Amino acid sequence: MQLDADIRACQACSLCEKRKQAVPGTGNRNARWMLVGEGPGAEEDRLGEPFVGQAGKLLDNMLAALGLTREADVFIANAVKCRPPHNRTPEADELAACRPYLLRQIELVEPDLLIALGRPAALALLEREINIGAARGKPHSYRDIPVVVTYHPAYLLRNPQDKGKAWEDLCFARRLVPLK
Ligand code: SF4
Repeated sequence: MQLDADIRACQACSLCEKRKQAVPGTGNRNARWMLVGEGPGAEEDRLGEPFVGQAGKLLDNMLAALGLTREADVFIANAVKCRPPHNRTPEADELAACRPYLLRQIELVEPDLLIALGRPAALALLEREINIGAARGKPHSYRDIPVVVTYHPAYLLRNPQDKGKAWEDLCFARRLVPLK
């Protein structure tokens, strides 16, 4: 599709310099839930697919626990489409440069619910800095679409004690917008 081609050709910020390829998104483009992560890691950069490493496996397992698959039930994109060097957190100017692509994806998918996985995703969607611990468990909004904020799966791999909270957040999302 044209948007994906535009993303792959984009040079709007310096993240284009070190990428192997841009990673537009994956999943069902008519999904009711859209998940937004941070940015591609090494595996994602190599394969052109978001959430394919260990964090992706954890995300798939959490979706499976809700009876969902990434192919059928959700659309997944990242706040920045190109890999930040050494997996550093994207800078505010990089998030801003890439934001029009994220907003265009939201326009095309027209989800009923957005889930921000981690602080950079929340910043890209809500345009303000938030603390995940304080912001989770209540609905935020992007335009008229509810936004649920939760931890990034890569954070959960480093902090497994917070997996229960992320599960609570997904159950909260399911109460807001049931899928099945
Ligand atoms: S991160 Fe986004 S804005 Fe920056 S070069 Fe990649 S696609 Fe373009």
